[in-house]
Amino acid sequence: MNSVIWLVIPCYKEEEVLPETSKELKEIMNGLIKKGKISNESKICFVNDGSTDKTWSIISDLCKSDSLFSGINLAHNKGHQNALLAGLMTARHYADAAISLDADLQDDVGVIEQFIDKFHEGKEVVYGVRSTRATDTAFKRGTAHMFYKLMNAMGADTLEDHADYRLMSKRALDGLAEYKEVNLFLRGIVPMIGYETDVVYYERHERFAGESKYPLKKMLSFAVDGITSCSVKPIRMITLLGFIIFLVSIAMLIYFLVLHIIGHTVAGWTTLVISVWGIGGLILLSLGIIGEYVGKIYMEVKERPRFIIESFYYGQEHFFDIKRENKV
Ligand code: UDP
Ligand code: MG
Repeated sequence: MNSVIWLVIPCYKEEEVLPETSKELKEIMNGLIKKGKISNESKICFVNDGSTDKTWSIISDLCKSDSLFSGINLAHNKGHQNALLAGLMTARHYADAAISLDADLQDDVGVIEQFIDKFHEGKEVVYGVRSTRATDTAFKRGTAHMFYKLMNAMGADTLEDHADYRLMSKRALDGLAEYKEVNLFLRGIVPMIGYETDVVYYERHERFAGESKYPLKKMLSFAVDGITSCSVKPIRMITLLGFIIFLVSIAMLIYFLVLHIIGHTVAGWTTLVISVWGIGGLILLSLGIIGEYVGKIYMEVKERPRFIIESFYYGQEHFFDIKRENKV
């Protein structure tokens, strides 16, 4: 089979890793083309997520020198998920399937061929799943495990130890295009699309240069976004909590009435203070969670674009207005 495969790689300030990454990926793609596994119209597509360093100039040089490369320049930094989406939504107009991966090659690129084999067997979505997390710190491993457990408990259907290394067929990408939400959490949405899926196991390596663009703060906000954009369970839990507290307050009321009737008027200072702080904290927490959803609704109703493409290289061809060219 000779299908057109696109590799989609979001890049944010990745000038240190791009030369090596592009070299390795080029070798792999050329090998696959030679073997006749993929068409020679396949592309390695880098998406520049509004980097302020030399990332885009490296990408455009690659595109000018070799038609195996293609590049999308976003007008602004929109975050990993949106950059990935911009790449995938462009890829679906050209490719039979697209594989998304990170620029730092932490995900083992040796399994790209297995992804393509599974696609040729008829799978529409193939998830890359880490077989071990040996290279991650114990802290990252622990928090990641908690994150997946929490996601699933909250009703978002995610696959443990699958990041954004996956293959999606054109059909699956067309399905993804129907999800118009601004608060995008691909890991939660892709399983919702359905179709026949499969898994490829791989080892995750260390980042070979540069530093992680996901510090703890971004990781936490990613987790909150993931949960609140895939599930309304937290709000239901608040309702349940409110109900339980109401029951407790009725019990307390009865208790204090009885005490009052039998004449024991307790000073009640401790109880009072604890209730004030306890309930106050709960109310603020609940408001915060509800606020998170209200904020999401606000962002959704505005229907702002999820990304804006400044220019696009398809091999050596350079487009500045791909909406008008009907390519996105
Ligand atoms: N990335 C991006 N926009 C951002 C942050 C990150 O496109 O705002 C890209 C980054 O260039 C990389 C991928 O997302 O290709 C994953 O980031 P990173 O490797 O820093 O995350 P980690 O592997 O540490 O979770
Ligand atoms: Mg990384």
